[in-house]
Amino acid sequence: MQNVFIIDHPVIQTKLTELRDYTADHRKFRALLDEIAMLMTYEVTRDFPTRSKPVRTPMEQMTGPELARQVTLVPILRAGLGMADGVLKILPDARMGHLGVRRDETTLEPIAYYQKLPPDIAETEVLVIDPMLATGGSAVAAISFLKKAGVENMKFVCLVAAPEGVSALHRSHPEVPIYCAAIDRELNDKGYILPGLGDAGDRIFGT
Ligand code: URA
Repeated sequence: MQNVFIIDHPVIQTKLTELRDYTADHRKFRALLDEIAMLMTYEVTRDFPTRSKPVRTPMEQMTGPELARQVTLVPILRAGLGMADGVLKILPDARMGHLGVRRDETTLEPIAYYQKLPPDIAETEVLVIDPMLATGGSAVAAISFLKKAGVENMKFVCLVAAPEGVSALHRSHPEVPIYCAAIDRELNDKGYILPGLGDAGDRIFGT
């Protein structure tokens, strides 16, 4: 699949298997999600542009590379919050915008209920984060919203994707790369990913 990057590193895959286990309680689930998000960020940021910066070592003057652009994380509420701390461990200077997009339980259509973004978000590299790419409804709505805010450089980062979600996101926003740790088999008729890991929000927050 074009513009989809599956991060199949064995350490990430081992942690994902532990995360899927239904016996993992919210403490373990949160810790694993945090670690996976941190490890994935390393790959997700691999092609971020750099610029040269002067630095004086204890020995002499030199120039070294540094990230050329600010980064903004946009977790899709609420499950996206579960990945934010892990990403921030690698990108501690990143700012955070928040987008509340939830699915109507009956129609599965996205409803935007909260937005708060940095005013200059359009000048930054944006990482939209949400552990599950299921129907793709929330992701499509969130990315459309960010485009209206002027964002051009963005990536969608999730943990587990359904083929249906990948297709939906590609249909609406083909230029936005998708990073995930796995593409699972299918969605069930309630919009849950199979085999998946259940409701990510409930498992993160213990609800
Ligand atoms: N959201 C979840 O948390 N889990 C799914 O399987 C699908 C959507």
